Amino acid sequence: MTTVGVLGAAGRMGREVCRAVDAADDLTLIAAVDPHHQGIALGDLVVAGSTDELEGVDVAVDFTTPRSVIGNARSCLGHGIHMVIGTTGIGEDGLEEIRRLTGSGDVNAIVAPNFAIGAALMMRFSEQAARHFDAAEVIELHHDQKVDAPSGTAITTAQRIGAARAGAWEAPAGDASHPGARGADVEGIRVHGIRLPGLLAHQEVIFGSPGQTLVLRHDTIDRSAFIPGILLAIRTVADRPGLTVGLDALLD
Ligand code: NAP
Repeated sequence: MTTVGVLGAAGRMGREVCRAVDAADDLTLIAAVDPHHQGIALGDLVVAGSTDELEGVDVAVDFTTPRSVIGNARSCLGHGIHMVIGTTGIGEDGLEEIRRLTGSGDVNAIVAPNFAIGAALMMRFSEQAARHFDAAEVIELHHDQKVDAPSGTAITTAQRIGAARAGAWEAPAGDASHPGARGADVEGIRVHGIRLPGLLAHQEVIFGSPGQTLVLRHDTIDRSAFIPGILLAIRTVADRPGLTVGLDALLD
């Protein structure tokens, strides 16, 4: 039986993860942490205020904020607790810190900006398509409460396309009097972010070559889409030494 603690337990994702872990026969939820929501009842558990409450936890799952996640990682990994991290906006420095914290080989972490299996496949298919097209742009669409932009999924998708594409493509820069009209430049790929109420998490990758386009689109219509990937990560993190980045690595 694997014991689990959830960080950000009172948030939108944290609550979903607590419910899913509670329902799994091979996992036991023993701690829920969310400092500003301490004392809230979540099923049989009461939300705690600090990571000190994670004693006895095998795997800590983090769905918090870009500002909190590295502090949580220092605390959990420093105490020998494996981590599954879904929080986005970590950045290269944050990832490097997590890699350092897992360097001893005694404690592991899986970091995935998107735990939806369909999104992992979209990134994999994008990499395949990139070998045959020079030009691609990414449009990511999310709910208006999302704090980071571009999304972690869009950044990873653009990086993978940039590394795999058939040749360099110089996209037109756009009108200087309307900065931002052509999106952000990630590894030479234009990424456009849309934030609107009514959306959840969606992404379109458009490939172009003379005479043809190819569109790959993934829609997350409910947060339950992330749960199978998160449970897979919780169940496998102890067997994956060091840092694993992306759900893709877990699918084969
Ligand atoms: P949310 O509803 O705002 O939940 C985040 C929760 O974490 C809030 O309750 C927040 O408290 C709490 N928190 C802040 N600092 C904390 C700390 N040090 N320790 C414990 N809890 C802390 O956000 P969400 O929609 O659940 O998303 C959370 C993160 O997951 C975001 O980065 C989002 O982009 C990402 N996400 C990833 C995936 C994926 O598949 N990887 C899927 C969906 C979302 P306050 O209310 O006080 O700030």
